[in-house]
Amino acid sequence: MLSSELKGKIAQTEDTLMSIGKRYGKESVFTTSFGAEDMVITDIIKSLDMDIEVATIDTGRLHQETYEFIDMVVQFYGLSVKTYFPESREVESMINSKGPNLFYHSTENRKMCCNVRKVGPLNRILEGRKAWVTGLRAEQSKFRQKMQRVEEDPLRGIVKVNPIINWISSDVWAYIREKGVPYNKLHDKGYPSIGCEPCTRAILPGEDERAGRWWWESDVKECGLHLSSQEISNTHLKGVR
Ligand code: SF4
Repeated sequence: MLSSELKGKIAQTEDTLMSIGKRYGKESVFTTSFGAEDMVITDIIKSLDMDIEVATIDTGRLHQETYEFIDMVVQFYGLSVKTYFPESREVESMINSKGPNLFYHSTENRKMCCNVRKVGPLNRILEGRKAWVTGLRAEQSKFRQKMQRVEEDPLRGIVKVNPIINWISSDVWAYIREKGVPYNKLHDKGYPSIGCEPCTRAILPGEDERAGRWWWESDVKECGLHLSSQEISNTHLKGVR
């Protein structure tokens, strides 16, 4: 049974997505990594038959469980999802000069890998778009607490829409249980946030939701996909692509 507060959040999310779909149509895109938050948005987009494109990034380093889950979700919803890959020559060049597990050797290497495998494909997804829908939530990290429901992506000059920014984790899971939404079984194994296999671990009780991402680092737990231009500049990503 959903609380009235959560019903209100769902209605607000539906309104936000409907207005984006109506206003931008195929010029809007929802990027999903098939985590729990993204499954809530997928379910709402499909249940309201919205005209928002769905795209995902295959970094080449995802968990096998995630690939199996993507197959399942595509069948479950009859979902049309476009997959974007890193540029193969960039991956080849990076691996040949730095090795396959370069991300463990330095933060600079890790950011390089995220840039090649994630930011590059994201830039291609967003080329020519006017609106970008994400499943970010403020509760996930201090960095995300600064984000708004609808804001401008300062780097790309497009509208960035975070329709569940004010949802808390229990809202997400209440929605999933109530609506029978499928979810990646890694969530049951202690992974609140699921990314690339070598860079994600299960978290311990009491740890921050994103503590399992790049756990060997202590600074910003972001890969560059959602950093502002200032932060991108600070993390050496600006101008790379
Ligand atoms: S999360 Fe890890 S493997 Fe994935 S792109 Fe970033 S550094 Fe590379």
